[in-house]
Amino acid sequence: MNQNLTTDRQTFVTHLECSITGERYEADQLHGLSRAGRPLLVRYDLDAVRTAISRDTIEARPTDLWRWRELLPVRHTSNIVSLGEIETPLVPLTKSGGPNVLVKDEGRLPTGSFKARGLVMAVAMAKELGVTKIAMPTNGNAGAALAAYATRCGIETIVFCPDDTPEINVREIAMQGARVWRVNGLIDDCGAIVGKGAAEGRWFDFSTLKEPYRIEGKKTMGLELAAQFGWKLPDAIFYPTGGGTGLIGMWKAFDELEKLGWIGSERPKMFAVQASGCAPIVRAFEAGEEHAERWEDASTVAAGIRVPKAVGDFLILRAVRESGGKALAVGDPAILKAVDAAAKQDGLLLCPEGGATLAAYHQALNTGLVDEDDKVVLFNCATGLKYPMPEAPQALDRTRPIDFDAL
Ligand SMILES: *Cc1c(COP(=O)(O)O)cnc(C)c1O
Repeated sequence: MNQNLTTDRQTFVTHLECSITGERYEADQLHGLSRAGRPLLVRYDLDAVRTAISRDTIEARPTDLWRWRELLPVRHTSNIVSLGEIETPLVPLTKSGGPNVLVKDEGRLPTGSFKARGLVMAVAMAKELGVTKIAMPTNGNAGAALAAYATRCGIETIVFCPDDTPEINVREIAMQGARVWRVNGLIDDCGAIVGKGAAEGRWFDFSTLKEPYRIEGKKTMGLELAAQFGWKLPDAIFYPTGGGTGLIGMWKAFDELEKLGWIGSERPKMFAVQASGCAPIVRAFEAGEEHAERWEDASTVAAGIRVPKAVGDFLILRAVRESGGKALAVGDPAILKAVDAAAKQDGLLLCPEGGATLAAYHQALNTGLVDEDDKVVLFNCATGLKYPMPEAPQALDRTRPIDFDAL
């Protein structure tokens, strides 16, 4: 058994807070969005955390996600259904990236994507708060992680995905015990179905940012980066942005770490990377808007970031602007070229969304937003093995003479 999970946990949650009005909500109660229709953020008694533990305490523990338990919301260890949430490695991408480019390879997590971070937390909290039935719209990976964790603790799940979701995602969701429906629409159309059922009391709505705890799980990416960089942070982070949970979560993590006195006030430039075929955040960033309008006719090979409308849009835009970063769009050809380059030159198979961050890095380098000396982290959010690959059609007939020179 994982040492980080052997004792009953302590938590330091004080309350939740509306991300737009600051209105206060009680901890230990089931919440969706705030009354203002915006995400709720979990708040902790950080002074008490500082007294209870130090950076050394953290470093003495096994490196997985649960070493951060005092900064996470789950009250009782018994509510955690773990599938082995390891700390993900930083893999240098020397040839296709550059001398200072590291990939945080989230494809190593359970269910092959970083959605596991958010869902392991959200499902534990759902269990703690007595939820028995959950529904979710997904572009694939979130549904797979939900299905895995919820099935493991006996919570019923119904998952809705756009009908062109990668086939492997739909099948893994079904395999892991959810009821999965292919819907002739986009993720926000699926979200509308989930919302309607939730309003009728049929299930609890697990859409991105519509329950408060996925951010807390995704926050661990920022905590891990701080520890991996020796309690400093990289100069720039390139994050493939759909709903933006991870970007918002990391930004929150950095704030909490600074309040603990574990890092300084320096921050990485945050680059929110989107596909040119679905770039609502980029459009809003460039127009100087605080919120992003829905992107019509969204289309891209990077299914995970095909999100036409994000409920946390203003939180993404705020973090990117405060950091001195930018929202960047890259086209599908550049995405596929980047995936190919990382695989062929560096032996690392990225998912298309990860490819988008590599393409965006080169764009940022060419336009002077970052330079070669900057320490850069690209997020590869899922294993490349989940996505279609080009054919490799060559066959060898062993019963005929073999031309070894031609192999
Ligand atoms: C969900 C997902 C994203 C987008 O993550 P958000 O935090 O929702 O913006 C990016 N890449 C992959 C592979 C995903 O599954």
